[in-house]
Amino acid sequence: MKTVSFIQRSAGGHWVGDGFPVRSMFSYNDRPERFSPFLMLDYGGPTRFEPTTKKLGVGQHPHRGFETVTIVYEGEVSHSDSSGGGGTIGPGEVQWMTAASGIVHEEYHGERLAREGGPFEMVQLWVNLPARDKMAAPGYQGITREQIPEVALADGAGTARIIAGELLGAKGPAHTFTPMQVWDLRLKAGHTVTLPAPAGHTTAPLVLRGRLRLADGQEVVAANLPVFSRDGEGVTLEVLEDSTVLWLSGEPINEPVVGYGPFVMNTEAEIHQAFTDFQSGKMGRITATA
Ligand code: MN
Repeated sequence: MKTVSFIQRSAGGHWVGDGFPVRSMFSYNDRPERFSPFLMLDYGGPTRFEPTTKKLGVGQHPHRGFETVTIVYEGEVSHSDSSGGGGTIGPGEVQWMTAASGIVHEEYHGERLAREGGPFEMVQLWVNLPARDKMAAPGYQGITREQIPEVALADGAGTARIIAGELLGAKGPAHTFTPMQVWDLRLKAGHTVTLPAPAGHTTAPLVLRGRLRLADGQEVVAANLPVFSRDGEGVTLEVLEDSTVLWLSGEPINEPVVGYGPFVMNTEAEIHQAFTDFQSGKMGRITATA
């Protein structure tokens, strides 16, 4: 089995644009090899927004060298990008955007959330790309609720929705460049679950709700991210209260990480090039606003 390496807790909150109050769980600025292939994780909300006529969110900005994955639990997020991708996602849905060689996008609250107000909770995960794919063509996968298979865990311990990777014969719809598992887990109090996690993988699930006990006796609650050893296979969780967990496990990309703001590459020279390319319009423009 894997053992607990450490428990990551949010270093603090900030606003992304005027729409997304997030707790930063980790970022590539602080020893990113610990979380590879994941580069950054922001936990937005849970909170409530009042009805507004304002367009809350983040206006056009670029990315290069990785993927942004937005998972909505409550509320709505709309996105449009220079690759022609776009759409609005609601609870249980996912935007998996491959910035790769460069993309310009905007991220806003969905129209209905703005009009009616309501609860808001989301996660944005940045997934690194290996050097060989950093300059691949950009792309966008809008993943609806219906496309995400749900499997029942043994003994009525809960359910898993498979966004990426595979569990109990169900395969997630997300195309990924390197092997990883991204699952939306709903776990029932009183059960102990053992989840498969390959040896060598970084395994770092985010707790959104509830309370769980790890194999070493430590307890984790909302906005805690236990990080497990790369050695060993599988993780056991004792579910003390009904819990919502975003399961993240992936094969590390053992390459240099050099990032600046919205660009994450392997060298300083590539970061300078990213700024030049963005400023000269090479990452495109958004032609139609969703
Ligand atoms: Mn963005």
